Amino acid sequence: MFNAVVINKDDTGYSANYQTVNEGDLPAADVSVKVAHSTLNYKDALAITGKSPVVRSFPMVAGIDFAGEVTHSDSADFSVGDKVVLNGWGVGERHWGGLSEQACVNADWLVPLPKSFSTEQAMAIGTAGYTAMLCVMALEKQGVRPSDGEILVSGATGGVGSVAIAILAKLGYTVVALTGKLSDESYLRNLGASEIIHRDEYSSPGKPMIKERWAGAIDVVGSHTLANICASLKYGGSVAACGLAGGMDLPATVAPFILRGVKLIGVDSVMCPKAQRLEAWERLEKDLDVTKLEALSQYIGLSEAIEYANKFMDGTVKGRVVVDVMK
Ligand code: NDP
Repeated sequence: MFNAVVINKDDTGYSANYQTVNEGDLPAADVSVKVAHSTLNYKDALAITGKSPVVRSFPMVAGIDFAGEVTHSDSADFSVGDKVVLNGWGVGERHWGGLSEQACVNADWLVPLPKSFSTEQAMAIGTAGYTAMLCVMALEKQGVRPSDGEILVSGATGGVGSVAIAILAKLGYTVVALTGKLSDESYLRNLGASEIIHRDEYSSPGKPMIKERWAGAIDVVGSHTLANICASLKYGGSVAACGLAGGMDLPATVAPFILRGVKLIGVDSVMCPKAQRLEAWERLEKDLDVTKLEALSQYIGLSEAIEYANKFMDGTVKGRVVVDVMK
């Protein structure tokens, strides 16, 4: 038996419980992992609270990511004792996930734990931080350089936003934080933001094009915020869009695309090819100041995950929530 956060949906409704599970019920797959740390991401909160149909089969062990140690392997790629990380691939949605003391997954989904990170640090980064790195890589691929001008990061106090600010600042970009929490100015400045803007300036319907300001942007909010970001990118600028914290719609016009040549780059971490994942984790080792992780992380036990999922939905969680599975 082991402990896990299990989501159920039946005639009595939708529920998430911290409970014991039989080892024999784990899904069949080629690598078994003793999970050391997991995290709470926005998607985990949606799954646990049932606010969005993230979970595709029931019962489901929650948790879209984890870091831990291999305890059994039928794969030539991993041996017992190897430290590994998993992000996405439908884990916690269609396949039992990481908010659990044990997991059984396909070897192809795993990447080796980067040498300079502990399992705790890897999960302080988590899927949010790995996605932030993918967003930075997407901007770089479009040729956005620190000398081109300011980069706007929305949802700045959240997981993706916080890590994105820390990475961009370390790379020498001038970062402006868009946030609903002006009271967290010192947190954002410590991460590396040079200016803080209230998100209300971007959250209402705006003009098709406004004054050019941003050389690039990372957006986790969507809806009017993303539309207004597109409308205020500099000529040829790019926005990496990965989230929908403010809404799934995109009420924009084509004007900034056809008159300013701006680029809207979608970023997906779930099905991202393995080579890109490995590159992202390598870049995180190099381009994220790990001393910043302490400041942006809070640590909870597995039994507290459900309570914290509700806090996520209230928008009161700041930075990253690391789950110590054995706590
Ligand atoms: P968090 O909840 O940690 O952060 C989201 C932040 O967005 C909040 O902290 C808040 O920041 C801001 N926000 C929340 N609600 C609203 C709102 N209604 N309008 C405007 N801003 C709002 O989530 P994550 O950082 O983990 O994820 C952010 C988004 O990115 C989510 O939509 C998530 O699903 C998506 N995502 C996508 C991935 C992908 O593969 N494409 C991978 C990981 C995440 P503040 O108060 O500072 O404004």
